[in-house]
Amino acid sequence: MPTSSHSAEGYIKFSFTHEPAPPPAHPALAGLLRVRDELRRWGWLGVLPDGIGYGNISARRPGGNTFVISASGTGRHKNALPEHFCAVLTVDIARNFVLCRGPLPASSESMSHGAVYATRPDTHAVIHVHDRALYARLRATGAPATPDDAEFGTPELARAIAALAPTLPPVAVLRLGGHPDGMLAFGPSIGAARDALAALRPKE
Ligand SMILES: [Zn+2]
Repeated sequence: MPTSSHSAEGYIKFSFTHEPAPPPAHPALAGLLRVRDELRRWGWLGVLPDGIGYGNISARRPGGNTFVISASGTGRHKNALPEHFCAVLTVDIARNFVLCRGPLPASSESMSHGAVYATRPDTHAVIHVHDRALYARLRATGAPATPDDAEFGTPELARAIAALAPTLPPVAVLRLGGHPDGMLAFGPSIGAARDALAALRPKE
């Protein structure tokens, strides 16, 4: 059971325990794969020139706050497969800890997804994407945002999301102030979260 933590400036940002297992089952997995591939075609999920992946998509598992999410390092795949997903079983913001199970580990952004599921019982899907132009537009128009000092992968960002999400409509897009180019969309279904983002795409 490998356990890992990443630290910066002497501060432990995130620790997780990953239990290797077959791909997680989910009744909406087909839709999750389809929307994930669509986001990748739009360039809102993928891999940066330096090889770091960005963007992820998750869906609540029936009857609790656990969820399945696209796994760390899978942004390079044009087409997602079930083995590119893992189940997140525990999100402990206070301890900065995530327990996940599946073929590949979850990303540190899982805590941000978990913060929405924990505070929005009506949310069944969360999408995290990166797009510079949309991010700038959301900032210019004063869209809901987390504070600029709440950085990627920190409990501060998870707490900020947990505070903001319950104040927003059932379908919402928020800008992550301390995570440049990063947005979070959530809704009662994968399609609803996807449509909220699609509505913000530039007209062709
Ligand atoms: Zn991100």
